[in-house]
Amino acid sequence: PASLLNAIEMAPRDPILGITEAFNADKNPNKINLGVGVYNDDNGKLPLLECVRKAEVLLAEKLSPRGYLPIDGLAAYDKAVQELVFGADSAVVKEKRAVTAQAIGGTGALKLGADFLKRFAPNAQVWISDPSWENHRALFESAGFVVNNYPYYDAATRGVNFSGMLDTLNSIPSGSIVLLHACCHNPTGADLTDAQWAQVIEVVLKRGLIPFLDMAYQGFGDGIESDGKVVRQFAEAGGPVFVSNSFSKSFSLYGERVGALSIVAVSAEEAARVLSQLKRVIRTNYSNPPIHGGQVVATALATPELRALWEQELADMRVRIRDMRQAFVQKLKEQAPAHNFDFVIQQRGMFSYSGLTKEQVNRLRDEYSIYAIDTGRICVAALNTRNIDYVVGAIAKVI
Ligand code: PLP
Repeated sequence: PASLLNAIEMAPRDPILGITEAFNADKNPNKINLGVGVYNDDNGKLPLLECVRKAEVLLAEKLSPRGYLPIDGLAAYDKAVQELVFGADSAVVKEKRAVTAQAIGGTGALKLGADFLKRFAPNAQVWISDPSWENHRALFESAGFVVNNYPYYDAATRGVNFSGMLDTLNSIPSGSIVLLHACCHNPTGADLTDAQWAQVIEVVLKRGLIPFLDMAYQGFGDGIESDGKVVRQFAEAGGPVFVSNSFSKSFSLYGERVGALSIVAVSAEEAARVLSQLKRVIRTNYSNPPIHGGQVVATALATPELRALWEQELADMRVRIRDMRQAFVQKLKEQAPAHNFDFVIQQRGMFSYSGLTKEQVNRLRDEYSIYAIDTGRICVAALNTRNIDYVVGAIAKVI
């Protein structure tokens, strides 16, 4: 009989999770998953950072009851995140112009920002890079926005089509929401230069666009400070600025869902009004966030010894990825000298748009059990000293 649920069609499979399913079912002992965006160590294992283990021990020694957190999260967490993102000595922090709310990962932060913007800029449209993290479009569309692309990746130069990007930012309606990757662009690994960022900030200000900076990989590019620079420059240039950040990767805390949304206002008084409205958005979504992950990150960021340890462990992850980029390029030079992969060294963060075609990606999967994404995106953080020769050997055969 006809019923509500009876008529529902199967939703399309998530492309990246689909790769993981196929990978899990593959019986080849040499199989390698370059598809997912997760950092693995040189043993191919997801790390538990030492700073997290130590913070957990500190927390376990003084176990506390689990009351509700405030709607905007743990105050110590929000403060530590705000200081990390904008700088403890920054004018925005000192003048209390920024509001920061704990969020359910970077995804939750983006969703809060999207819902907030839909209330106060209901007719604005959203512009995301072409290509972008695949959830950006879906997330803003589900909040009710029309989502457009601005030109970003240039396959010919394997860099950014900056003039195309700038032309679009110069021509879209004022008040448009522009989503920017603060560092380590996902999926391409191609970032803007400092000079290009300065031009983007100028256009955003001049045209009255609303910048929304997504920072999911702080510390994976050139370092914590350097990767956060663009966020601070936008904040100094004046509000409004929206910033989503995530600790999934930088603390290897994927499953704890720790992130935050920050909004920069022009005054403390404006910020207080913004926070009051942001709390309404949170309250009607999930009331208030979970305690545990926020406590771990707040403890690690605010305890000097653990903070230093985190910075070191994050640097180790960053350097390991860079080493893999170097080794990948060097080994391909030896095995496939006709092809130039030098651009992989310039790319930042966990990913590389490798230039592999869909056919080549299919052959890697079918003949070698190496799983990449159809677009040629590979996760460099899934390479290690044990599997790199196998991966490079296979790529040299299919290109
Ligand atoms: N933004 C970008 C660009 C990402 O790549 C990711 C995760 O892959 C996120 C946001 C979401 O982060 P989280 O896992 O903390 O929700």
